Amino acid sequence: IIRMFPGPKVVVISAMGKTTNALEELVKAYFKGDQGKTDILGKIRQYHDDIMLQLANGQQVDYSGVDHLFCALEDRLNTPPSMNFDYEYDQIVSYGELVSTAIISSFYNSIGLTNQWIDIRKSLITDDTYRDANINWPLSEKQVRKTFDSATHELIITQGFLGGTTTNHTTTLGREGSDYTAAILANILDARDVTIWKNVPGILNADPDFLPATQKLDELSYREAIELSYSGAKVIHPKTIKPLQNKHIPLLVKSFDNPEKEGTI
Ligand code: ASP
Ligand code: MG
Repeated sequence: IIRMFPGPKVVVISAMGKTTNALEELVKAYFKGDQGKTDILGKIRQYHDDIMLQLANGQQVDYSGVDHLFCALEDRLNTPPSMNFDYEYDQIVSYGELVSTAIISSFYNSIGLTNQWIDIRKSLITDDTYRDANINWPLSEKQVRKTFDSATHELIITQGFLGGTTTNHTTTLGREGSDYTAAILANILDARDVTIWKNVPGILNADPDFLPATQKLDELSYREAIELSYSGAKVIHPKTIKPLQNKHIPLLVKSFDNPEKEGTI
């Protein structure tokens, strides 16, 4: 898919599989002082190790960045938590995206898709409403432009869902917030379009888990998309549309199983 779209690209990546849920369990155990945290961390590590091995497929890939992240996470779990659960949540759950982007960036580099890994927490500046942080638009605009415009590579890999405070603490934008990150970056960088890659062919007229005879919608308006997401359609995060609508940036929802198919615009 990356190779299908030549030219400058920002790839916004979420945590892998059910990692965010597992990290939520980890932070609960850590906050309670429960020794079960070691087990939970071990399983998360194993899950990512398996993916790294499969990706490398016997070739040499430099995954040292991923090792550093897991060491830093372990160190954090060995220091006592503060009394602010939401703060601790963001410091730990954010590793899902830090690790996923580190893995994919290293893997891409190893197969000739040279890229730059950007730590979005230094560019997307938020307030300190941990777990539901609000974007500081003026500061983020400045920082994002500065960082992305001076990027050394056409292909940039960065984290969805994460932000950072002016005092360098990690924040998160609310569950399923990675689409929102893509929309914010698109707005600030004046992107040509945004594509959300999914395991469904596009936006359907009903939830296929409940209604078997669903139809894909070829297009819908920004307004209809906002209404859909507020009434519970999980395909788009409710906050995603506004930053795109404000700059008339099209949003495409496509299937990574059939990347050449149109999807929904
Ligand atoms: N990994 C985060 C979550 O599971 C963000 C996202 O998936 O968009 O909520
Ligand atoms: Mg997710």
